[in-house]
Amino acid sequence: MRIDTVTAVVTGAAQGLGRCFALELARAGARVMAGDIQADGLGTLAEEARGLAGRVETMALDVTQEASVRGFLGETAARLGTPNLLVNNAGILRDGVLALREEDGFVRKMPSVQWKSVIETNLTGCYVMAREVVSQMLENGVSPGLVVNISSITGAGNPGQGNYAAAKAGLDAATRTWALELAQYGIRVGAIAPGLIDTPMAQALDPDERAGMVADVPLGRMGRPEEIWAALRFIVECDFFTGRVIQVDGGASY
Ligand code: NAD
Repeated sequence: MRIDTVTAVVTGAAQGLGRCFALELARAGARVMAGDIQADGLGTLAEEARGLAGRVETMALDVTQEASVRGFLGETAARLGTPNLLVNNAGILRDGVLALREEDGFVRKMPSVQWKSVIETNLTGCYVMAREVVSQMLENGVSPGLVVNISSITGAGNPGQGNYAAAKAGLDAATRTWALELAQYGIRVGAIAPGLIDTPMAQALDPDERAGMVADVPLGRMGRPEEIWAALRFIVECDFFTGRVIQVDGGASY
């Protein structure tokens, strides 16, 4: 797909990767509906997007609430028409790794509320968004269409992050499954698994823990949001790409 033909929905767009995706898509000529639970960040995003080749519209969105998702997508259709790209980016970390010692036995110390909130946002939220956007695409004859899920290399497993790893591994499995289901309609589905990227999510980590994670990156640094955008741009523009997860991690995957 040419980016200037894209009408995109980007979730979790108030800051970090989602904000970068919304701005870069608009810089390249796309029309974007940006959603997030954080109203402040959406306000500054709309200002920052002024004057770009494309356009960024913003609206409150909570991907864990189906009524919010439906309201958001109804408004997207009214303002921009049916989207042909969904970027499932909204995600949270709730792992308490810092409060734990390995000898505690991480899984024993993971409260249900943390397990459920991460699965609800990072996995079920992506499913609800994909279900609703793909329905709009099919009902309105949108083809080609594309769904890109923002996963993580943590999907391969990471002590203390059972909830986050399970959600991201589930998202990778859903990516492959949806790609197989939707190829016949000209709808592609792909995913990006970033390593450690310099966003507010990474900045919120304990400095010592973050330094330890950086030390494990062969390229010796955190990635920049623009470097994940480069992968998203590739997936958008490469019409033969579907069903795969691209790792962008400075060599950190194991
Ligand atoms: P971030 O915390 O900086 O931004 C995430 C955004 O999602 C926030 O603006 C937040 O308000 C929003 N959000 C949270 N819950 C939401 C909900 N229920 N509905 C709508 N929006 C919601 O994080 P980031 O680093 O930009 O991460 C973006 C994505 O990339 C996430 O899925 C994350 O898991 C993934 N990722 C990040 C890294 C990293 O190192 N930063 C690495 C791998 C994967």
